[in-house]
Amino acid sequence: ATLPIDSRVSTRTADFIGQKHRMFIDGRFVVAASGKTFPVYNPATGEVIAHVPEAEAEDVDRAVRAARAAFDNGPWARMKPSERGRLLWKLGDLLEKHLEEFAELESIDNGKPVVVARAADVPLAVDMFRYMGGWATKISGSTLSLSSPGEFHSYTLREPVGVAAQIIPWNFPLLMAAWKLGPALAAGCTVVLKLAEQTPLSGLRLAELIHEAGFPEGVVNVLTGFGEGAGAPLAAHEMVDKVAFTGSTEVGRLIVRAAAGNLKKVTLELGGKSPAIVFPDADMDRAIAGTASAIFFNQGQCCCAGSRLMVHEKVFDQVVEGVSRIAAKIKIGPGMDPSTELGPLVSDEQFQRVTGYIRAGVDEGAEVLTGGHSTGDRGYFVQPTVLAKTMPEMKVVKEEIFGPVVCAQRFSDDDLDRIAAEANDTVFGLAASIWTDDLSTAHKLARRIRAGTVWINCHNIFDATLPFGGYKESGWGREKGEEAVQNYLETKAVAVAL
Ligand code: NAD
Repeated sequence: ATLPIDSRVSTRTADFIGQKHRMFIDGRFVVAASGKTFPVYNPATGEVIAHVPEAEAEDVDRAVRAARAAFDNGPWARMKPSERGRLLWKLGDLLEKHLEEFAELESIDNGKPVVVARAADVPLAVDMFRYMGGWATKISGSTLSLSSPGEFHSYTLREPVGVAAQIIPWNFPLLMAAWKLGPALAAGCTVVLKLAEQTPLSGLRLAELIHEAGFPEGVVNVLTGFGEGAGAPLAAHEMVDKVAFTGSTEVGRLIVRAAAGNLKKVTLELGGKSPAIVFPDADMDRAIAGTASAIFFNQGQCCCAGSRLMVHEKVFDQVVEGVSRIAAKIKIGPGMDPSTELGPLVSDEQFQRVTGYIRAGVDEGAEVLTGGHSTGDRGYFVQPTVLAKTMPEMKVVKEEIFGPVVCAQRFSDDDLDRIAAEANDTVFGLAASIWTDDLSTAHKLARRIRAGTVWINCHNIFDATLPFGGYKESGWGREKGEEAVQNYLETKAVAVAL
């Protein structure tokens, strides 16, 4: 029987969603060894739209062995860096050619507005592949001067770390795949990528483009499956050299434990509770619109969402009222409606989580300035919500909500150390934004904030060149930029006695 798919989806996309889905292992599209599948939902309706293979330990093992063989002695191992770069560039081109289809897949699977996927998710993924394609030819070591000059010639080689296991979340399904695959392939690694169980569609379509681009078999393997069934055996597999994970801090800890067996290299991109800090001298229109977007973009499902709105008391009412006014006017609807500004949350689980946090906030004494409820008669819609009268010890202030819920906090201080201490009063350290027209305030505070990214008079800027990652419990290592490539390389020191 054909499953219901939003009628606004193009025939081409609907055909892909309706096809029998297969994973990508060793250059072939295959079902799970067990034959098991699991359902994929449209979060705007709660309806099942597809079924995908459920990978388990046996599939993981096949994929890892394929990646191992491709790394150890396939054509990939002998391929010129310029050829690797060309393949990455070609993948970017293919993705761009199918931009519309990918935007629809992201919208239908994740819930996000198709307009946003078209303007952000897909083009950013295209850029990432092209940017990383450029790095393939720019990986080099250095010559070293030893303490006994003239007696040795020594240098370093930079070599790919090997087989990389990559486990990604559902908030930017395609873009997270691009952030992971791009640097690994530029460095010359081979990959087993496990997609998030909530959002497997764009990654499966991407596997077709990887095949079409001409990557040798086994270089990229793409699995669909659950965390425990597929993610855990992948993170623990003895033939994997490195694991890269994006998701919750809780699962991040499990990844570290699983990686301990054969001491895989680990990079983690985890949760956040990022402050957006507004000073009285900021351009108010820009700060209000910018801090609203900082939290409501992607339904608040961004690890770097500006979920703590810290505003100086002189402009607190103006800013918080402004953000609330924007929140109340945001058009909520199915992602495929081109006028939608805020789509549903990704899943029923996430819906329960976010509405649970709002209730907990109210129970602890927070005041709901706007929103606060779910909406719609089906699907996982939650109103953009502004909470005031929030105290530092409240659950909604301390924990990552991962939904369109912002906690407004007032500061009266002009002392940057104390403002920074308040901004840093979290176990996380992913990002922050500072809104001010004073250059000194901006740069002084940027140095005092313990976070991997500080945006000044902007938020959620995801350019491929910017290293992205966390201090503290927000993770290990950086994605994007040159640092991302370094994460997939080993350094070898060579010394020659002359
Ligand atoms: P999660 O951490 O459980 O899932 C992320 C990925 O990890 C998925 O691919 C999942 O299958 C996999 N996974 C789960 N358990 C695993 C295990 N034991 N071993 C290996 N892989 C495993 O995230 P979630 O449950 O989808 O969301 C829960 C919360 O995590 C969210 O509410 C949010 O706070 C946070 N989150 C953060 C990000 C981010 O970008 N940092 C993304 C998604 C979710």
